[in-house]
Amino acid sequence: QKALITGVTSYIGAHIAQQLLEKGWYVRGTVRSQAKAQWLHDTFKGGDRFETVEVKDIQKKESFTEAVKGVDYVFHVASPFFTNPKDPYEDLIYPAINGTVSLLSAVHEHGPSVKRVVVTSSYAAVMKPHPEDPNYVYTESEWNDVAFQAVEKEGKNVSGSVAYIASKNEAERAAWKFVETTKPKYELSVINPVYVFGPAIHHVAKAEDINTSVAIIYSFVSGAKKTLNPHSIFSNYVDVRDVAFAHIQAAVLPEAAGQRFITVGGAFSDNLIASTIKKNFPQYADKLPKEGWNEKDINPKTEADNSKSRNVLGVNYISLEKSVVDTIESIKQFI
Ligand code: NDP
Repeated sequence: QKALITGVTSYIGAHIAQQLLEKGWYVRGTVRSQAKAQWLHDTFKGGDRFETVEVKDIQKKESFTEAVKGVDYVFHVASPFFTNPKDPYEDLIYPAINGTVSLLSAVHEHGPSVKRVVVTSSYAAVMKPHPEDPNYVYTESEWNDVAFQAVEKEGKNVSGSVAYIASKNEAERAAWKFVETTKPKYELSVINPVYVFGPAIHHVAKAEDINTSVAIIYSFVSGAKKTLNPHSIFSNYVDVRDVAFAHIQAAVLPEAAGQRFITVGGAFSDNLIASTIKKNFPQYADKLPKEGWNEKDINPKTEADNSKSRNVLGVNYISLEKSVVDTIESIKQFI
């Protein structure tokens, strides 16, 4: 089997590639940076089963013309993930939507062998706030259309997080709309991960380059975080190895076609992460935030339902403790 992964040099993309190579697949990845690509070639030692192709501009469908040829499955992972855009549209929303649609059109026109495309969306495209009901349980039937409405209303002044959330919601909406209107030969599945933790195996040259979700864990030991905040809704984690596994299952299982899947291992709180680091890495105890320690915040509950991913995809979620420990191990050189 041969797969194309867009954004193979990303935190999540590198894990999908690694798991596919371990299964004996051939993997082609699109990259923007040769240094990041070389790191993966060195890491995987995949020989002729791992290749990378340069795709600088994901917004142009011509960019993917060659990349989609001769592959059986496509994983569309590439999308900007940061929350301090200069311009919410140019930096986040357009690349997310246009990148998705250009990839889907390129597969439609030039990838006749592709059976299924799996798009990496986000729980951001699910978690529409329900302040009226603190016990609301989120399932795959929910959409977070309010984020883009906020972007339209507030324009460039909108918060960067809301702009990122909107980019994911609108890109996933665009993906489903594309298959509904174009009716391509391939099938579509979507993965909606919450915050992803776990080992970083992609190229991270310096601390500032740590990807957004791993940076949450890093902030506990870097001195950036001064206070442990009380638990709030939407603080959920999933391990990157489970996310990669879910992508692969969503590609190959017949029953996953046409479906979206929330991937969530459970909830986290600042107190739970800090105590996990303290217990497992006593050498970093004095680096942890000094303020806000509170036993009551150590057992947070998730509002996100993971039953569909467990039942259909067979994900058996890695614990927060293992995920945090393995994250810290992988970024030790920056502590
Ligand atoms: P990364 O920042 O490591 O990955 C982002 C990837 O997208 C990189 O490969 C990056 O390329 C590529 N990319 C970003 N902007 C552009 C652009 N304008 N043109 C071309 N390529 C671009 O983070 P993650 O691995 O976490 O993110 C991967 C996917 O997972 C994204 O779609 C993200 O929205 C989604 N996601 C992540 C979650 C998390 O908590 N980590 C949670 C939910 C969803 P390059 O490698 O060259 O920088």
